[in-house]
Amino acid sequence: MGRIILHIDMDAFFAAIEERDNPRFAGKSIDIGADPKGERGRGVVSTANYEARKYGIGSAMPISWAYKANPDAIFLPPDFRRYSASSRNIMAILGKYAKKMQQVSVDEAYLEVTGSKLQVTSYKKAEEIARKIKKEIWEKEKLTCSIGIGPNKLIAKIASDEQKPDGLTIIKPNQVKNFLDPKLASVIPGIGPKSFAALKDIEVETISDLRKIPKEKLVEQFGVHGNQMWAMARGQDERIIEEEREIKSVGKQTTFQHDIKTSGPIVKAAFELLHGVFGELKESGLSGKTLIIVVRYAWFETHTSQETQDEALTLKDAKRLCLKLLLPYLGKERIRLVGVRISGLFN
Ligand SMILES: [Mg+2]
Repeated sequence: MGRIILHIDMDAFFAAIEERDNPRFAGKSIDIGADPKGERGRGVVSTANYEARKYGIGSAMPISWAYKANPDAIFLPPDFRRYSASSRNIMAILGKYAKKMQQVSVDEAYLEVTGSKLQVTSYKKAEEIARKIKKEIWEKEKLTCSIGIGPNKLIAKIASDEQKPDGLTIIKPNQVKNFLDPKLASVIPGIGPKSFAALKDIEVETISDLRKIPKEKLVEQFGVHGNQMWAMARGQDERIIEEEREIKSVGKQTTFQHDIKTSGPIVKAAFELLHGVFGELKESGLSGKTLIIVVRYAWFETHTSQETQDEALTLKDAKRLCLKLLLPYLGKERIRLVGVRISGLFN
């Protein structure tokens, strides 16, 4: 059984967040980036939403061109604080679904789902995970992503771009050749505009063309990169998932319909959240030693309280600790929100 890799890429990430947070932008063309200052603005477009792309506007295009293409668009400076808050939430969701994860940018990550405690052994199962991820990101962040599934990073990455936005593309090993054949050689990492121009000189436009060039010739012309081009034209890619971050905690919280003071329903809600958290931990094959509880009063004052035990917390331990930590907050003031979190995670 080979590897199964998922590549998750958020759709027009910055622009999608602005649309989500500003309902009045619905259906409008949005360019995030430099100030166009009429046509005199310098700098570039960082992200354009799908409406703006209809005017041919895209990332890295000079902002003055974007202005010329559609002066009626909404031009916004990027608000990285908001974008990274969303990114953190999304990466935390992704982290639960695989033991190995590599975040490659603010809105992109690779997950390896084989060899994890999830015991993914088929593309069918990998597809189920992808659907769960899409659903959870939509439910929690109201954003869409596109996911590619394949036998390595190369295929997963190209597949995630296949059906944007909100796409899910699965390429099994026996489909790799047909999938790659018609694609431009420039979709291969390392083939930038310069190499692509050089390839065109030897009549290579598509990956199928590239596959016809002997390895020696590619190495002669492109040096060590020639080896990689040759392998990738055949859908081969041994690059591993380089993990830089571990999942640090799993938590849930709930806001009550009405602020409440009675202890019973608050404890009950906290216990239900714990059941959910333990379900997720079990799915990811993780355990934790620290329980953190969050209590927010009706006027938004928020308290957290935590306790760590020497061994992995069982659900029973967590409930006992939860009750102990909650008690000081109960029966006094009206409570708006309760949350639980398990941290100090390990496999
Ligand atoms: Mg993206």
